[in-house]
Amino acid sequence: MNITKIIIILFLNFSFLFSYSQPVNVPWPEIVDSSDLVDTRSKPVEYQVKQIFRFPETGISADNMFPGARLNDMFMINDSTLQVQILPENYPVNMSPWYAFRIWSETTQTIYLKLCYKHGQHRYWPKLSNDNIHWMPVDSSDHFSEPGDTSALFRVHIIHDTVWISAQENITSDICKQWINKLGEKQFISKHTIGYSTLGRPLYGLSISESDGKKLLVILSRQHPPEVTGYKEMMAFVETISENTRLARRFRKKFETIVVPMMNPDGVDNGFWRNNAGGIDMNRDWRYFNQPETYAFRKYILKKIKKQNARVCFGVDFHSTQEDIFYYSKKNVNPDKEIITLKWVNAINKRFPDNSFNPEPTGITSQVSKNWFYNEIKAESITYEVGDNTPRDIIKKRGKEAARQLMKILLKEKKL
Ligand SMILES: [Zn+2]
Repeated sequence: MNITKIIIILFLNFSFLFSYSQPVNVPWPEIVDSSDLVDTRSKPVEYQVKQIFRFPETGISADNMFPGARLNDMFMINDSTLQVQILPENYPVNMSPWYAFRIWSETTQTIYLKLCYKHGQHRYWPKLSNDNIHWMPVDSSDHFSEPGDTSALFRVHIIHDTVWISAQENITSDICKQWINKLGEKQFISKHTIGYSTLGRPLYGLSISESDGKKLLVILSRQHPPEVTGYKEMMAFVETISENTRLARRFRKKFETIVVPMMNPDGVDNGFWRNNAGGIDMNRDWRYFNQPETYAFRKYILKKIKKQNARVCFGVDFHSTQEDIFYYSKKNVNPDKEIITLKWVNAINKRFPDNSFNPEPTGITSQVSKNWFYNEIKAESITYEVGDNTPRDIIKKRGKEAARQLMKILLKEKKL
């Protein structure tokens, strides 16, 4: 090997070491699979132009001028069909193309909408709303596409002034704030601002407790903006812990539950497919904490542990994907006791045999929140994935039952 080669190799290694700013020193096992190592320093994102699209020949207009909207362009293909152009915030990006826009017409009419994704495939069955609050899926007789198609065609009967059309229910940071404020009225729930997002939105946290604060259950959600079903199951879960039942009261006397329901308000309000305003998949930033949202979360939890001399007993990070699935670490963080997740998932599945979770063991080296709980906090945790199309009534019932079962298990655990 000649000297030039040696210098080049040394330079590459050296620059690699410094390519990550490492503001924190989280102990992490050696990474074998290089796909587990993700650079989470900020990247540019592209914002959509907020505008109204008008088509005077048909009397139709549409816009993206509301939080959560995603509509990059729109044009007429023929008299009755409009093409809707949907772009991600940056690329490469996870295949979860979010869209949301509203449309209105001077006259009652039926139109066809063709969703065209740049860098994406159709995933979310369109939902309609007359108030941006209550949503109904487009009828199957009006929907002419399959998941995985690069575009999607559906028919909409415009009978009201305005129809909102969205990939999933449009639950923005403002709606989340209303939910937090309502819960925060209970005397055993306090509301905190744990930090601020990249664009300066507050990150709200709830503390639900009538305990001495020594044992913590930590809940987070909505790192990924379109993952609304996971968010909904989280709501049912948290509401059940906050209920006036014997079980919930007993639980609150022993455990403090910390909840950060919306980790990525910038991504949610800007209609992003996956990332935060730093252009990063936040659930790959739990090793280096380059993004303000993950950084604030970690700081908040560590401070709490120190101040209260507390221990995190369990962590749950709510997400959505194509199916109902629990990702948990195959390595047991507490080898002298049983894995809580397996007891828990069995208890839930017994009650929901038709909508059961598939427990999937994973490694501990990818830079996701679950592995931060494992590697730094030394706590068992799971990534709680709810199916995109899981029926909403099931989500509500199952989220409640999941909370009941976890409360029971944690109360029984001797070694926590
Ligand atoms: Zn996710």
